[in-house]
Amino acid sequence: MTRIRALCISLSIWLLAFSASANTQPALSLTEVSPGIYFHQGKIADLFSTQFDPVANITVIIGEEAVAVIDTGGSRRAGEMLYRAIRQITALPIRYVINTHVHPDHNFGNQAFVSENPEFIAHARYAGDFDAKANYYLQRLSAPWFEGTTPVAATRLIEKDADIDLGQRRLKLIAHERAHTRHDLTVFDVNSETLIAGDLLFVDHVPSLDGSLIGWLSVISTLNTMPYQRVIPGHGPIQTGKNAFDAQTHYLRSLAQEVRAAINQNIDINTASLTVLRSHADNWKLFEQFHGRNVIQAYKELEWE
Ligand SMILES: [Zn+2]
Repeated sequence: MTRIRALCISLSIWLLAFSASANTQPALSLTEVSPGIYFHQGKIADLFSTQFDPVANITVIIGEEAVAVIDTGGSRRAGEMLYRAIRQITALPIRYVINTHVHPDHNFGNQAFVSENPEFIAHARYAGDFDAKANYYLQRLSAPWFEGTTPVAATRLIEKDADIDLGQRRLKLIAHERAHTRHDLTVFDVNSETLIAGDLLFVDHVPSLDGSLIGWLSVISTLNTMPYQRVIPGHGPIQTGKNAFDAQTHYLRSLAQEVRAAINQNIDINTASLTVLRSHADNWKLFEQFHGRNVIQAYKELEWE
């Protein structure tokens, strides 16, 4: 073989490989964290100021007969990348798409799953909040990455709790009282004792309060009575062991304590939002983006006590 011919052959192989990879659409990375449970950790960033997605965590659970997806990313693109990743792992039907709450970083990828005709499951109070807020969220997502995104509503609402069966794999869904939002839904995989907490648990990413501070602390106590080995938060890395909620509980309790003190000292809400709990700033990422709003939300709740 002449050198030129060899060069031509290797060049055409390279071109073939290049065009194949150009045709291959990207898929999200999914890591198997326990048999049949796959996880994608979102980047710790605020959806409304990032150019990319996903920023929230995604969990996929595979039983013997069906697949459940818990949260779908915050854009059509992220949802499609997730869908492709699932199809690289299993051909089983995706029967359930579970949305832990209405914040768009957790459910704006839903549309990638419509063709599978799953049940889109959420908390009973999710529906009204979705109708009220989805378009507002959509308008705020103007980066090119979010083009073509269409929010998809829930089709099955959970009042209190429900079990779903993926085939030798039971998931317990619980609709909670007001906490991170007024419609948080958790999923417990009985086989692996994994709790998928949605935004009832933030790790590293500062908690963001859009429901009730006192309610959230109370829901955490309930979740802590569950026999979990592992908790998948809405943002940040997976937690194992019984102290999964400790750092967040410390933040929320301190927030309640300092906001009450500010109210008692007649410090107004705007001043409080700039001064309360600054000592926790180094403990969390995105503190400047979310903490001031948490103080305002807590103040409005606690001034009525
Ligand atoms: Zn959220």
